[in-house]
Amino acid sequence: MKYDYLIVGAGFAGAVMAERLASQSNKKVLIVEKRNHVGGNVYDVYDEHGILIHKYGPHIFHTNSKEVFDYLSKFTEWRFYEHKVLANYQGDHFPIPINRITINKFFDLDLKTEGEVKSFLSTKIENRFPILNSEDIIVNQVGRELFEAFFKNYTKKQWNLFPNELSPSVCGRIPVRFNDDYRYFTDKYQFMPKEGYTKMFEKMLSHKNIEVALSTDYKKIIDNTKFDKIIYTGPIDAFFDYQFGKLPYRSIRFEYEYYKKQNYQSAGQVNFVDMKEEFTRVTEYKYLTLQNTDATTISKEFSLQDGEPYYPIPTDMNRKLFLRYKQEAEKLKNIIFCGRLAEYQYYNMDQVIAYSLNKFRKLANA
Ligand code: FAD
Ligand code: UDP
Repeated sequence: MKYDYLIVGAGFAGAVMAERLASQSNKKVLIVEKRNHVGGNVYDVYDEHGILIHKYGPHIFHTNSKEVFDYLSKFTEWRFYEHKVLANYQGDHFPIPINRITINKFFDLDLKTEGEVKSFLSTKIENRFPILNSEDIIVNQVGRELFEAFFKNYTKKQWNLFPNELSPSVCGRIPVRFNDDYRYFTDKYQFMPKEGYTKMFEKMLSHKNIEVALSTDYKKIIDNTKFDKIIYTGPIDAFFDYQFGKLPYRSIRFEYEYYKKQNYQSAGQVNFVDMKEEFTRVTEYKYLTLQNTDATTISKEFSLQDGEPYYPIPTDMNRKLFLRYKQEAEKLKNIIFCGRLAEYQYYNMDQVIAYSLNKFRKLANA
């Protein structure tokens, strides 16, 4: 059997490419995944207590792209869900992103209008220019006290780097609000797949032109498999056998706990922004999945240097190393590098889907 495409990795990048190539271009695809399941990092599964959990941490779908939303809607129905996050600071809870409620509580104020919040913050902010790192971008918006309380230590725990060592794009993901809006995201489309992500992936990949090989490292089968092109969605440095050195990725250890009570905490996610706790955040999955049960499962995240690669680490030095690999990648004909690990970009799901759809269009038009 000869395949048109060998696709490495069954996360969003691999699955979108496989689905499009198979259904729109009638291409024969073999998708190989080293884990024993599809879905990549968005994989969800029922735990031994019957609670739907996300095996690799909380995944909340949000996008402003109608194209991405319409595309996924072919494979799932949705449940409306707007994510809410609280920061646990010195044992007290504050809304994150920082909003008027956060500011009033933190400074013991009673600011009533957006104008009052803005003029209060103008007494706190530092005007840093140019904005070179993740500290600059936050103190420019809220000043030093809020930065130190909510960003400095959480970032250190998550990345083992302080915000001034990371690109502005990292902490810049989190907006600052002058009103009481305490949703984590404000995107137009905020939904969770009704039956979970894994079910959605199974639908995407169930096509006569797609064969899925689980628990298979592509390096083990590549010499005995016939194909025309590769789409590679694993870590780019691994593809080149680390010839320029290892690209750092941040990993996480997840600890799951089960409680025989309705709820464990008062929001889907609580960020522990002090150094007191070693873990970064606690997710209570039933808020995200809207599962109706008498019991609940949570996960605590402990950030790690080594382990499964989850987060590319956006620093200037890492970007330079990545660009050396990218240059090598561009020399290769018939191999397409696609996704968060292969492009070494801190992408959300919708970005990976949008870029994969784009890559497919380019292939189809070539
Ligand atoms: P992946 O999902 O990593 O898929 C790559 C696949 O390739 C993996 O399954 C891997 O096992 C496989 N692979 C690697 N090497 C090989 C090999 N040699 N042979 C075979 N297979 C191989 N995004 C959001 O939009 N909202 C969120 O709330 C959100 N939360 C997140 C929380 C965490 C903890 C993490 C880590 C990420 C989160 N993301 C979130 C980002 C989201 O997970 C990614 O954007 C998306 O899953 C990336 O898809 P991908 O296909 O590029 O990579
Ligand atoms: N961040 C923080 N405090 C918070 C939330 C976020 O310092 O309460 C910083 C931290 O560096 C984090 C980054 O902002 O890694 C991006 O946060 P996001 O919630 O987008 O992280 P992800 O869900 O991708 O892990």
